[in-house]
Amino acid sequence: MRMWDGMRMWDGMRMWDGMRMWDEDVGWDGQRVSETRGNPSPRLTARLPGGGRGGVCVFVRKLSIAHSVTRCSAAASLRERAALAMLAAMGGSLVPALIERYVAAMVLSGAGDLLGFKNGSWEFSRDGPAIHRELQQLGGLEKLDASGWMVSDDTVMHLATAEALADWRREDGLSPLYRKMAQKYKNCMKDMTGRAPGLTCIKSARQLQPKVDGGWTIPFDPKGGGCGGAMRAMCIGLRFPHDTELDTLIAIAVESGRMTHHHPTGYLGSLAAALFTAYAVSGKPTESWGKGLLDTLDKAKSYVKTAGKHVEDNLAAWPYFENQWKKYLQERGIADGKSKPTFPEKYGVVERDKFYSSVSYSGWGGSSGHDSTIIAYDAILGSGDSWIELCNRGVFHGGDNDSTGAIAAAWWGAMYGFQEVPKSNFENLEYKQRLVTLGEKLYELSHSSYTRLSAKSSCDAVM
Ligand SMILES: [Mg+2]
Repeated sequence: MRMWDGMRMWDGMRMWDGMRMWDEDVGWDGQRVSETRGNPSPRLTARLPGGGRGGVCVFVRKLSIAHSVTRCSAAASLRERAALAMLAAMGGSLVPALIERYVAAMVLSGAGDLLGFKNGSWEFSRDGPAIHRELQQLGGLEKLDASGWMVSDDTVMHLATAEALADWRREDGLSPLYRKMAQKYKNCMKDMTGRAPGLTCIKSARQLQPKVDGGWTIPFDPKGGGCGGAMRAMCIGLRFPHDTELDTLIAIAVESGRMTHHHPTGYLGSLAAALFTAYAVSGKPTESWGKGLLDTLDKAKSYVKTAGKHVEDNLAAWPYFENQWKKYLQERGIADGKSKPTFPEKYGVVERDKFYSSVSYSGWGGSSGHDSTIIAYDAILGSGDSWIELCNRGVFHGGDNDSTGAIAAAWWGAMYGFQEVPKSNFENLEYKQRLVTLGEKLYELSHSSYTRLSAKSSCDAVM
């Protein structure tokens, strides 16, 4: 029996959780191989068909994560490529290690931001076809040399959220985390030169008072529906990917979002960005994500009521985000969470620009909490495991494309790792090492104890 649940690969007595392989017969767990042979961590495991004991062949590429980031699959040795191609040809599945997917979620999010931003000239273009023409003139995404391109405010604020999460000890409770986040958001405003930060973020960060009890909450903002909360929340889903942690994910996504965007359209975008990252890590089918979000909104509303901050204002402004998402899911035919999405017969760059604009609040597709996440999700649904297609849809469009790019690329990386991503897209990425370190740290924090416990109980259930 073989089953993949996104976190663990089951095969009778063997189980793969993205980091370790348990095998009763062989007594091998990947970590021991790394230790005895001096390799820091396995990167990819490929499985052959056959099933049952002895029917599974495990091929481990003994490359460290840091090494894998600098040498992506496109640069693998001929021997490695030949081995992987052979396994793929035989019908085996290639499963990037979960830790690689964590690192990829952080690093590729930065790449999606940088590619959409293009030092400001593509972020503020409303003309998708012109962006695609210019991209081709630069050699296309496969050959694009992005040296000298900066990440924008999206990545700087995503780093701030992730660093607060990485520094926080769960046993201290949530207040210290919110203080850290508020302080990080204030501090990161010093690193915004040339990165086009949003005015709402700038204004709100000034109001935050991390040293005052409750000073991480700003007043309700009728104009706070922008995407600034969503674009920096993906790492919350990396930190809390387990179903049992949903309440914590909701609370942190809402509070971190409304530190700058105290309006449901803004902070529910933060919730969607975090929740879909958790779904990506957990291997939930992408067509179920939208329904999962709608099913979660009632819990989020209960949280907002219980938290007791500007409740009436929040509830009065609540329906817009929910209604826009309902409309979108109906349009794609996935309101039931089970059907496969349907797209218009002709859905090229021009048509996508029109659609993205139509789901937006004021015509600038991706600039609000709801449409940044809708557009990123639309790109995920339409791209499968193709990084190039994801960028064509989720990054290179007219609108707020650095934010949709940062969000969509994080979700994609959390599912597929660095699979087939051209090295040049992230090789010289600004803040790459910080992003790598945070991906590794968030993996450790979210899985170190949880995995061992759930692995044991899951093994017991199967045996
Ligand atoms: Mg930006």
